[in-house]
Amino acid sequence: NVSYIPHKLVHSDQCYSRLMALKRMGIVNNYEKIRKLCITIVGIGGVGSVAAEMLVRCGIGKIILFDYDQVEWSNMNRLFYQPRHIGLSKVEAAGLTLSSINPDVIIETHHMDITKVETYEFFLDSLETSGLTFGHPVDMVLSCVDNFEARMAINSACNEKNITWFESGVAENAVSGHIQMIVPGKTACFACAPPLMVSAGIDEKSIKKEGVCAASLPTTMGIISGFLVQNALKKLLQFGKVSDYLGYMALTDFFPTMTLKPNPFCQDNYCKIRQDEYKLNEKQQPPDNCEP
Ligand code: ATP
Ligand code: ZN
Repeated sequence: NVSYIPHKLVHSDQCYSRLMALKRMGIVNNYEKIRKLCITIVGIGGVGSVAAEMLVRCGIGKIILFDYDQVEWSNMNRLFYQPRHIGLSKVEAAGLTLSSINPDVIIETHHMDITKVETYEFFLDSLETSGLTFGHPVDMVLSCVDNFEARMAINSACNEKNITWFESGVAENAVSGHIQMIVPGKTACFACAPPLMVSAGIDEKSIKKEGVCAASLPTTMGIISGFLVQNALKKLLQFGKVSDYLGYMALTDFFPTMTLKPNPFCQDNYCKIRQDEYKLNEKQQPPDNCEP
C-alpha cells in the first residue's frame, strides 16, 4: 500500500486558472474547495481509472484507490493503462501515472479485495478516518467495480459510515451504462432497489457468466466515467442538479433519469437507521427546494 505524497505544487498556473474560470463565470461558487476533498474509488478498471484521472486533472486534494487486479493485455481496448503497465497491479500503475499528471494530489493506493473479512474492516476504517485531514472521513466514494458482491460491500460500508457514494456500471454488451447517486437515508441504496438494475438491463455484468467474454468499449466507459465525475463534482461543489439515477443507452442516444426513494423495508439495517435520521432531520428543517 503506497502513498504518493505531492513533492511540489506544480499543477500549472495556467491549468489552475482554467479551472478557476468556472468561478469567474458563475458556474461554481467555490471551485477551490476541490483542494480540500478526498474521494475513494473502488475498482480502477475501465471506468475507475478514467474517473481517477479526471479528478486528478481537476485538482482534487486526495484520492484513495482500491483494486485487487493487475493490468493485462485485455485492458488495452480501454482508456488509461498502457502496454508498459502490463503485469503491474492496477493501483500501482494508476498511482504512477496519476502522480506524474498532477503531483499536487495525495494518492493512496490499496491492492486488495474489499469484500474479504479482514480487508472489509480496513476499508470501513479507511472511509471513516482517511479523509484529507487525518482522522476525518472521506467525502465520497465512487464505485467502479464490475460485480454484485463488491457493490453490496460498498453499499453496506457507506450506509454504516453515512457516506454519499455513486454506483456505476456498464452493461456486458458495452452499449449501455448508468450512474446512481446514493445518499444514505435520502435516496434508495443498492440493497433498496436491486430490481431496478435488472429491469434497466444493466445487471448483466454483476452476474458474471464464467467463460463468457464480455464486450467493452472505451467510448461507453469514458462516457460513464465522465457522468460519474461530473455528478460527483456537482454534488460536492454544489452546482447544478444531480439526478438520483442517470442512464445511457448508446444505440438510441437515450439518457433516462429518475428519482429513487429509499425502501422502508430495505434488508440493510444501517439503511433503515439512516432513513429514520433523514426523516427526523427533515422534520426539524424548513423545506429547501433549491438543494442541488
Ligand atoms: P474485464 O472483466 O472485462 O476483463 P476488468 O476486470 O478490468 O475487465 P472493469 O469493469 O474494467 O473490469 O473494472 C472493474 C474493476 O473493479 C477491476 O479492475 C476489478 O479488479 C475491480 N474490482 C472488482 N471487484 C473488486 C473488489 N471486491 N475489490 C477490489 N476491486 C475490485
Ligand atoms: Zn436500502
